[in-house]
Amino acid sequence: MAEALSEEKTKSPAAIRVLSLAESLIPLEQPDINMFAFLKSLIVQGAESEAKSYARLLKLAGFDPEAAKCGVCGRAEIAYFSPQDIMFLCAPCLRKRTTGRENN
Ligand SMILES: [Zn+2]
Repeated sequence: MAEALSEEKTKSPAAIRVLSLAESLIPLEQPDINMFAFLKSLIVQGAESEAKSYARLLKLAGFDPEAAKCGVCGRAEIAYFSPQDIMFLCAPCLRKRTTGRENN
């Protein structure tokens, strides 16, 4: 799927950021027609709103931000999705993780 999409070009930095998250989230052996259509529209039309595009992408990938809780403490006010950990984080837990990863 990534190969098919890479033939399309986008100059939108927001679209590129959303696409790079998509690359780390989507199992490439399981192409999803809805996801593909969304990513293609992102490339062709650009990201209308980066936050909305992330929310749409996560929902299509099976991580609904509206129903999400922090993967560490369970708080409902999520601030961030961690593609490395495949989970949402609240702002305090995100700060803890960021400061805890200074050696990376
Ligand atoms: Zn938390």
